[in-house]
Amino acid sequence: MATYKEEAVVLRAYDLGEADRILTMITAGRGLRRAVAKGVKRTRSKFGGRLEPFTHLDAVLHEGRNLDTVVQVEIIRSHESVRADFAKFLFGEAMLEMIEKSLHEGQRIPRIFEALCVTLDVLEGDVCDPALLLAAFEFKICALIGYHPHLDCCLHCGRKIEGGRACLDLSGGGIACADCSRGLENLQAMSPDSLSLIRCLLSEDMATVACREESPRVCRDVLGTAFRFSESFLDRPLRSRQVVLRYLDKGT
Ligand SMILES: [Zn+2]
Repeated sequence: MATYKEEAVVLRAYDLGEADRILTMITAGRGLRRAVAKGVKRTRSKFGGRLEPFTHLDAVLHEGRNLDTVVQVEIIRSHESVRADFAKFLFGEAMLEMIEKSLHEGQRIPRIFEALCVTLDVLEGDVCDPALLLAAFEFKICALIGYHPHLDCCLHCGRKIEGGRACLDLSGGGIACADCSRGLENLQAMSPDSLSLIRCLLSEDMATVACREESPRVCRDVLGTAFRFSESFLDRPLRSRQVVLRYLDKGT
């Protein structure tokens, strides 16, 4: 079994027994990996408090049959300020869980790792609306996995949709015009404002999305649409999303 060096972001970490910690990480070159860090909880551990979710690391790991073993780590970005801010932490956790649940172990899509690193760096700075950043992240990750939403023309009749009522056809992965929506199931209604905002989110970089000032109602609507869109191919519920939605609904 080989030893390898990878950049990684910790997605989830939990204690195992008295001293060890199990990590789920996304790595730059080897996709999702699970690893054990031994002796983390001892006061003189060389890992200290470095192995927390959100931490971007340079890691040396030893490959194992089921679990790799962490040999050495160096912090690239700790993203401490994301963990310290309640709202940023909630939205960031939903991003981490989205990555963990939409990939299977070893599945390698390098641009997903890059997208996560960029988004976490943006989340550390000033963000007008973290809900919008999360919605953009969801749509971008879906697109990278191969579920790019088709939002220009009706999936069924090919008519270009500009303004007016349209629905997202979750089974088809794109929009359906008002006429074609009749009789279809598994639809998410979308206002013209939400549709044009989602189109912008898909083409803009995250730093631009972070500066957008939109009405909280449209942001909430767009985030709900993003969740429903990604849930149509993720076959399991994501716990952190419920927390995010409760947080938003309490604030409005
Ligand atoms: Zn149509």
